[in-house]
Amino acid sequence: MDTMITKLRETQDLTDAEFKELLETDRYDAELRQNADEVRIANYGRDVYLRGLIEFTNYCKNDCLYCGIRCSNREAERYRLTPEEIMDCCAEGYALGYRTFVLQGGEDPYYTDERVCQIVRMIHKQYPDCAITLSIGEKSRESYQAYFEAGANRYLLRHETANPEHYAMLHPAKMSCENRKRCLYDLKEIGYQVGAGIMIGSPHQTTAHIIEDIRFMQDLQPDMIGIGPFLSHKDTPFRDEPNGSLELTLRLLGILRLVFPQVLLPATTALGTMHPRGRELGLQTGANVIMPNLSPVSERKKYMLYDNKICVGDESAQCRNCLEQRVKSAGYQISMSRGDALRLQK
Ligand code: SAM
Repeated sequence: MDTMITKLRETQDLTDAEFKELLETDRYDAELRQNADEVRIANYGRDVYLRGLIEFTNYCKNDCLYCGIRCSNREAERYRLTPEEIMDCCAEGYALGYRTFVLQGGEDPYYTDERVCQIVRMIHKQYPDCAITLSIGEKSRESYQAYFEAGANRYLLRHETANPEHYAMLHPAKMSCENRKRCLYDLKEIGYQVGAGIMIGSPHQTTAHIIEDIRFMQDLQPDMIGIGPFLSHKDTPFRDEPNGSLELTLRLLGILRLVFPQVLLPATTALGTMHPRGRELGLQTGANVIMPNLSPVSERKKYMLYDNKICVGDESAQCRNCLEQRVKSAGYQISMSRGDALRLQK
């Protein structure tokens, strides 16, 4: 059959008008889902890679309008883990089989480059077989270089939106789309496996913005793309904004699998928060990564980026078991390998 989805699958591209049509109707959803699943299986089989997520600080100097840990939110109870606590999370994760640790946090000035490098070095020394991912926001090229030399090999930094005007509606004036993009290109040049991404349904987002995001990522060629629905948080300026849509998030996951056949695509916690089987549906629409929480249960509910976040009460081992069942029920299998981007596995 000669359809738009076939064209997308074969050429990994469409015109803007075709992307617009695809994004704005549910007519192609079933065909998109099937093709995304086939392409994912052709590249990665039925494997789902796990990343152990350690949310090590919720202090943040930024004031992103959508985010529950923005610095203006006086209701947020702040915490930061000590290096020992971080190492405890890694030990627990390693015993559960995790071979990737993701250190994520707000942009916390306490964590100077020296402190970040020290922690990365400790993890790298103790677990040389594990990948270390950082997700700690916008830094100078020199800082990124220092973390890389300390042993970090992946970096997640969603670009949030590739459109500067839209970016300005989501962020305070002192943050810029240009700097965010600069960070991503610096990270790539240094040699990190880089993750970009957006929220679906962030306030003021249009279809044209999403197409601009696809175009930006076609240029950047990230190894990972994190997308999940925008979910409102009661103590942010966007408290009354509607949540992003499950359908559109799944549709974009499918599209991204076809545009970037080898990309690592997480079924996000936000997707699981929006729908009880959101992550399973994500896996069935091209996603192949899940990022279970390894943070201490006592601190988890403080890393509240949006309301009603799931998995905040479960011990790491419980999360691991629960996910194993969910992945199986969706028709896939957990792989405990590092799960590097395919270009590096070969
Ligand atoms: N500070 C780092 C950064 O800026 O990349 C990492 C932490 S930041 C909280 C991680 C991601 O959470 C952001 O890139 C954003 O897309 C997502 N996020 C924040 N608030 C959200 C919300 N209300 N709904 C959905 N996702 C949200």
